[in-house]
Amino acid sequence: RIVYVNGEYLPEEEAKISVFDRGFLMADGVYEVTSVLEGRLVDFAGHMARLKRSLAELDMAMPVTDAELEAIHRRMVADNGIEEGLVYMQITRGAADRDFAYPEGATPSLVLFTQKKALIDSAAAKAGLRVATLPDLRWKRRDIKTVQLLAPSMAKMAAKAQGKDDAWMVDEDGFVTEGSSNNAYIVTKAGTIVTRHLSNDILHGITRKAVLSFAREAQMKVEERPFTVAEAQDAAEAFITSASSFVTPVVEIDGTALGDGAPGPVARRLREIYVAESRKAAV
Ligand code: PLP
Repeated sequence: RIVYVNGEYLPEEEAKISVFDRGFLMADGVYEVTSVLEGRLVDFAGHMARLKRSLAELDMAMPVTDAELEAIHRRMVADNGIEEGLVYMQITRGAADRDFAYPEGATPSLVLFTQKKALIDSAAAKAGLRVATLPDLRWKRRDIKTVQLLAPSMAKMAAKAQGKDDAWMVDEDGFVTEGSSNNAYIVTKAGTIVTRHLSNDILHGITRKAVLSFAREAQMKVEERPFTVAEAQDAAEAFITSASSFVTPVVEIDGTALGDGAPGPVARRLREIYVAESRKAAV
């Protein structure tokens, strides 16, 4: 596998980052994951817009131009022969003497790698996910896509220890924030799609934005507001969205099956629309 590190395309064994890199020492960095369909990038513009916002919130600059970053993505897809899968891109503040203050003049580190993955024909999409709810232990700026991922990693491990597929994280007031690495939705018995509103409490998903707009175009009713675990367990269906899972049904929450326990019609329809539109629009 070829990876990109600070201007070089290298076999992964040869790629190196300093032990003083603040991404490694302090999780001082941001990332994006863009899906690839038929060798093309899905919603690349959306990921770049969010990347710039994340960087700005942390007073970091783009290490390369937009055109260069896009060219690097394309070369990674080509060199690794990715027809379907993901491009992971990370920017950290760079290497400096360890200090809580941001260093002056550090050179940011830019790293990319790819993963081949069957995104369309996924077992999870067919069977649906069983989720466990866990306290959301993350910091209060979940809108910034940082590489500080231990809290959701712990939540996912706790869910797995219960024999479940993923975690839905819950705030102090009992409302679901999002999945460990995805946005969370329910569909009420009246057919309304409910997902938490945008704020610093959740990541502003690129897939979320697209899916909500497709849902509205298809005349589905959408409410952006918090929902509790109890409301979710009483819902007709549920699903998640992310660049790596598109739209994936959730069939069980904390042991309670939703509806008849099979992927619901709204989630299945939204997945179909999302895949079809993303294929068309990918560049
Ligand atoms: N929420 C969290 C916490 C995530 O980590 C992710 C993706 O990695 C998402 C939501 C979904 O975002 P996107 O649709 O941009 O992949």
